[in-house]
Amino acid sequence: SVPLSFFGGIGGASKAGILIKGSNYLELLSQSEIVVFDKTGTLTKGVFKVQEINPKGMSKSSLLELTTYAENYSNHPISISLKEAYGKEIDGSKVTESEEIAGHGVRAVINGNIVYAGNYKLMDKIGVKYFKGDVIGTVVHVAVNDKYAGYILISDEIKSDSKDAIRKLKKSNIKKTVMLTGDAKRVGEQVANELAMDLVYTELLPVDKVEKVEALLKSKSDKGKLAFVGDGINDAPVLARSDIGIAMGGLGSDAAIEAADIVIMTDEPSKIATAMNISKRTLKIVK
Ligand code: ADP
Ligand code: MG
Repeated sequence: SVPLSFFGGIGGASKAGILIKGSNYLELLSQSEIVVFDKTGTLTKGVFKVQEINPKGMSKSSLLELTTYAENYSNHPISISLKEAYGKEIDGSKVTESEEIAGHGVRAVINGNIVYAGNYKLMDKIGVKYFKGDVIGTVVHVAVNDKYAGYILISDEIKSDSKDAIRKLKKSNIKKTVMLTGDAKRVGEQVANELAMDLVYTELLPVDKVEKVEALLKSKSDKGKLAFVGDGINDAPVLARSDIGIAMGGLGSDAAIEAADIVIMTDEPSKIATAMNISKRTLKIVK
């Protein structure tokens, strides 16, 4: 049977906005050794701001419009931010086909034109030449009927709570803090450096994230546990593969909340250290 103080631990956590889906996760949390984070929406706000619109062969407003239409059916933070910047209603009847390409971007048919919007990997995939200059931020390249139409530069901000989150984990004896992201190398490394994280892997597809988690699982001690923290979009497989899957409930997708063992109801990653401290205290009472 479950010792009574476990309920106290789960209750205390829930008052702090941390939903723990079973008493066994309290025990696992107290043994955490590696904490792996997704970047977008977890350590960063997931609210991208448009910084630059660089069209090729069309006006800036046309490029923004086209890209937003292509993103019509996506719920990715990038898509939400573009819709915000566009600010007008989308006439959905003009979008006759639409598909999300995980870790790459989107493909849509707009007024009979085939439009791709996403990162350089997407452009490589369809064989379209793109702007290769050095910029700081996330680049959304756009191609129309296999011709490059320019790019939109967007950028996200680190959450004010993230530095504290990493610092507190270090203080509570976590051996490694790791960031996994599908975003560009420069962007991921800049965020990881600023937060003083131990390891960062960038430009990963969802399957690459699972692979990295598997390698990290092998690298830890027998008793130590690995926790993964994600906001959800495409993260369900890694959440399932980790010893402890933690979803950020603020922006998180339903699929992630479903796949997670623990849900942080606010958008504060420092709540992970809070949860670990609650679990250690609870375990002390039980033992
Ligand atoms: P993250 O690890 O940052 O959560 P994702 O796997 O969600 O990454 O996305 C990885 C990259 O794929 C993004 O940084 C972006 O370049 C591209 N991408 C994904 N979805 C979209 C989209 N809807 N529109 C444009 N680009 C996208
Ligand atoms: Mg994500």
